[in-house]
Amino acid sequence: MAEQRVLVAGAGVAGLRAAQQLRAAGWTGYVGVIGAEQHPPYNRPPLTKEALRQGVDVQGLRFPLPDAAIDWRLGTRVVGCDLAAKRLTIDGPAGSGEEVSFDGLVIATGVGARRLPIAAPHTWRHTVRTPEDAAALRGRLVDRPPVAVIGAGFVGCEVAAAATEMGCEVTVVEPLSTPLERAVGHDLGAEVQRRHEERGVRFVLGRTVASIEGGAKGPTGVVLDDGQVVAAEVVVEAVGSVPNTDWLAGQGLDLSNGVLCDEDLHPVTADGPLRDVVALGDVARFPIRSYGAGPVRIEHWQMAGDCAGHAARSLLAGLAGDPADGAPGFDLVPSFWTDQYDTRIQFFGLPSLGLDDVRVLEGDLLHEAVVGYHRQETLIGFGLLGMRRRMMPYRQQLVEGLRATYAGNVS
Ligand SMILES: Cc1cc2nc3c(=O)[nH]c(=O)nc-3n(C[C@H](O)[C@H](O)[C@H](O)COP(=O)(O)OP(=O)(O)OC[C@H]3O[C@@H](n4cnc5c(N)ncnc54)[C@H](O)[C@@H]3O)c2cc1C
Repeated sequence: MAEQRVLVAGAGVAGLRAAQQLRAAGWTGYVGVIGAEQHPPYNRPPLTKEALRQGVDVQGLRFPLPDAAIDWRLGTRVVGCDLAAKRLTIDGPAGSGEEVSFDGLVIATGVGARRLPIAAPHTWRHTVRTPEDAAALRGRLVDRPPVAVIGAGFVGCEVAAAATEMGCEVTVVEPLSTPLERAVGHDLGAEVQRRHEERGVRFVLGRTVASIEGGAKGPTGVVLDDGQVVAAEVVVEAVGSVPNTDWLAGQGLDLSNGVLCDEDLHPVTADGPLRDVVALGDVARFPIRSYGAGPVRIEHWQMAGDCAGHAARSLLAGLAGDPADGAPGFDLVPSFWTDQYDTRIQFFGLPSLGLDDVRVLEGDLLHEAVVGYHRQETLIGFGLLGMRRRMMPYRQQLVEGLRATYAGNVS
């Protein structure tokens, strides 16, 4: 009998962790990881942090590769698939249109940078997703040009902090009323804004970008919806992400916001879950029972590692035809961090589900604080502004509250 084959689409942290966990779960068949970038899996979060400030060292960002036999097909993009026939179409160094077959498939293609629907050329608008992006932006920032950052989410705020520390004058443009508002709420967002302003960052809030003006040498300014022009020679577009799912089109999947999966990470179709396929990482949207939440797509680095074991077990159970899926439903405590200047802010749980009831639980926002996010009196997430040593008791409170409220099995 031919060796059974699992293919992993995407060689980011989720693809790497899934491949490792397949081996850890005892899979002895073939594992091939197909990655569009030339690089072996590397760590993305430093790209807007120390790599931007200090220089991009791609080798230093790489994850150690497992000893287990894994076939790395890098510089190779999956361009199409036929999930029923269990085939991927790939474009790589060997040419385009090659077909590769699989018995099991892991979808881990992550997300790409969202672009604003404005006419300005992409060469005028930096995004930061890859080491090449970060190196190109850093190459401009070292000359200390005036910088406009479009978007005050985590990526935009981190770029603003790094550019400020490199001596640039930075203006951040954001349609909402505070930075990070959608993720962490108004009060903590306002405190982040205050810390940026203290270091000279200017915020233009409640405004959107209409166009970018410039000439042969590149951009000169960002034109806002009220006609105001923000002078900038470097423009960074940090307006969110788009899941990389083009290659999955036409397969009966719900791709409206990433790949909709069941709680065992199998993509769902009108005919039920595809048990020989799993998805994880930024591209996957799935229900997390313990939060009483419908399907969520979470772009946190930690999620890849937290979900990989479950994804591997679900896939192997599916391949073995095990009707019980072999893996009990799992629950988790998502976590995320961001570095802004000398402050690390960490989040646990799902703060965005508790934005209507946000309380400072300890400390004060001007210095260090624990911020709690509640839904119907249950703590559903918390943020640590500094105060890292307070993580364990609040994590415990979060887990116990969720367990009592939603009867989940949070670990
Ligand atoms: C600048 C930046 C800073 C961040 N900072 C933080 C942070 O501080 N804390 C935190 O928790 N999270 C942070 N994140 C988010 C974190 O990096 C992601 O959650 C994590 O990288 C997700 O991993 P992934 O493997 O799912 O997706 P990705 O990292 O997006 O990897 C997917 C890979 O698949 C490849 N691919 C895409 N399409 C195809 C295709 N068709 N065929 C083959 N390969 C394909 C892509 O090229 C990519 O290499 C940050 C993200 C960015 C961009």
